Amino acid sequence: MDESVHQHKFTLTEDQMPTQWYNIIPDLPSPPPPALHPGTLQPAGPEDFLPLFPMDLILQEVSQDSYIDIPGAVLDIYRQWRPSPLFRAHRLEKLLGTPAKIYYKFEGQSPAGSHKTNTSVPQAYYNAIAGVKKLTTETGAGQWGTALSFATALFGLECEVWQVGASYDAKPYRRLMMEVYGAKVHRSPSNLTAAGRAFYDVNPNHPGSLGIAISEAVEVAAQDPEIRYALGSVLNHVLMHQTIIGEEALLQMQMAGDTPTHIVGCTGGGSNFGGLSFPFLREKMAGKMDPKIIAVEPESCPSLTKGVYAYDFGDTAGMTPLMKMHTLGRNFVPDPIHAGGLRYHGMAPLISHIYELGLMEAIAVPQTECFEAAIKFARTEGIVPAPEPTHAIAAAIRQALVAKETGEETVILTALCGHGHFDLAAYEEFLGGRMKDENADDSRFAESIDEVKAFPINN
Ligand SMILES: *Cc1c(COP(=O)(O)O)cnc(C)c1O
Repeated sequence: MDESVHQHKFTLTEDQMPTQWYNIIPDLPSPPPPALHPGTLQPAGPEDFLPLFPMDLILQEVSQDSYIDIPGAVLDIYRQWRPSPLFRAHRLEKLLGTPAKIYYKFEGQSPAGSHKTNTSVPQAYYNAIAGVKKLTTETGAGQWGTALSFATALFGLECEVWQVGASYDAKPYRRLMMEVYGAKVHRSPSNLTAAGRAFYDVNPNHPGSLGIAISEAVEVAAQDPEIRYALGSVLNHVLMHQTIIGEEALLQMQMAGDTPTHIVGCTGGGSNFGGLSFPFLREKMAGKMDPKIIAVEPESCPSLTKGVYAYDFGDTAGMTPLMKMHTLGRNFVPDPIHAGGLRYHGMAPLISHIYELGLMEAIAVPQTECFEAAIKFARTEGIVPAPEPTHAIAAAIRQALVAKETGEETVILTALCGHGHFDLAAYEEFLGGRMKDENADDSRFAESIDEVKAFPINN
């Protein structure tokens, strides 16, 4: 019997950890459309981003280099939890009775509990060496806020976080973890910013959205040269920082002796999905493998599957540059599902472009199917997933059950991008039979999409 049949985890040593991030843009058949200055509607230049980001990150955002060296100070910190393990889900496969092989790359071992530290650490580093004193940000599920609070603590920066109201109310321990790292956390919409007051004054208990929280954090950063803003997803440089996930997974799949036929990942803004899949997409474009690459989104917020591909703002107040992306409209407020990290009205411009090029697919999955999948996963693999990657697990299970019907030799690779230790209230609701599927009616975003279509730039 093949020894490898019994191998559960595929691990790399610290000196096998990749030392460069991968920038997929030069390898694509065409570049993604540029971000536009909201006033002039001309392509935004580096100087347009300077009030928000340090120059090193802006240069990464527009870089044409295929690889960028990871700074030594960042590599040192990465080594605390990287390389991250790749697991084969033998017991889940057995439960499903599927011939498919299911692999998952686990990012929940970082101190903050998700993949977000892969970008929070370099972002804090580049801001620190640029002399910035404080970073502001938003957080949906609380994962990004935690990751940035951790990273800013390491580099001696202050950190101020606007946590989406629904998440702030449901996850007090997420807030506390950020405070343990030294961050200041506000419920969003807050009465501290003009963007927040537009909602707070109408309803102080407004559930909030990522778009509103981004507006608040951007507003504060833009007003003070010592403060900059950090975004946990969506932008090119963020997706690039996450490619260390896929570069490691490529080596680990080689160790396992398998080539993925399906890569599935959950998409909020697209960073864990892009991070896992871009190195494999490079190999696919080079003709070395041919995996189907599938983004999985929640039905509450189906930007890729139901959104319009058009220029829209990254935030609700309309303060960011305009980005061409799949969007449900910046004024769309998704149902407050538990996967708070997936409640973003848009999708990364880079993922949107790759989707338009036909290099990947997308599906939307309802919340209860995700938690059913998560329970199967937890009761076989032992790890309690964050609500976001339950979408990826649900899609992996769907694919494994297709393989059971067809007998295909499917090899599924997914990112288990975070643990759910702070999300047990969601599991309580599910186990108590109280969880409902989100509203899946397209009329929810008809108006906000029409607003986007009406922008002069989109006509
Ligand atoms: C932030 C987050 C997401 C959503 O963001 P992406 O950029 O799409 O990865 C998904 N899962 C977890 C665990 C997160 O923290």
